[in-house]
Amino acid sequence: MDCIFCAIVAGRAPRSVVSEDELVVAFMDINPVNPGHVLVVPKTHATGLADVPFGTGARMMELAMRLAKSARSAGLDPDGINLFLADGAAAGQEVFHAHLHMVPRHVGDGFSLQVAYGTPPSREQLDEVASALRSELE
Ligand code: AMP
Ligand code: ZN
Repeated sequence: MDCIFCAIVAGRAPRSVVSEDELVVAFMDINPVNPGHVLVVPKTHATGLADVPFGTGARMMELAMRLAKSARSAGLDPDGINLFLADGAAAGQEVFHAHLHMVPRHVGDGFSLQVAYGTPPSREQLDEVASALRSELE
């Protein structure tokens, strides 16, 4: 399979590794939103979020949280930080090997998710969707 992140994990493609363990690796994004933009990926290929084992997902989140801390103390001086995961093309996923972005943010950097909000749902509608989600929860 021709997957750029699998090639990076295997050391067959250029990469700048920040940290790795037996489950996950974090490396610099080649086209960063801001300096310090890191991607955390599972070492075993997983196309989307549903393909990532829960334990690996937890490790991805833990490493992203630790990276967020280091971004604050490493002199990057972010105004804020986004942890961001695009699952599926409609969500903005472009590389189909699951990855969690850790993006240091600066006021006015222009990175945004544009949302056209409609009328907020009623409490009954919120409860209905909550119930549907609850019944499918693993
Ligand atoms: P996404 O839209 O969430 O799929 O984001 C894909 C990210 O992967 C983008 O931020 C790209 O800049 C980044 N990317 C693509 N190819 C490479 C690469 N070879 N090394 C590092 N980052 C990459
Ligand atoms: Zn892959």
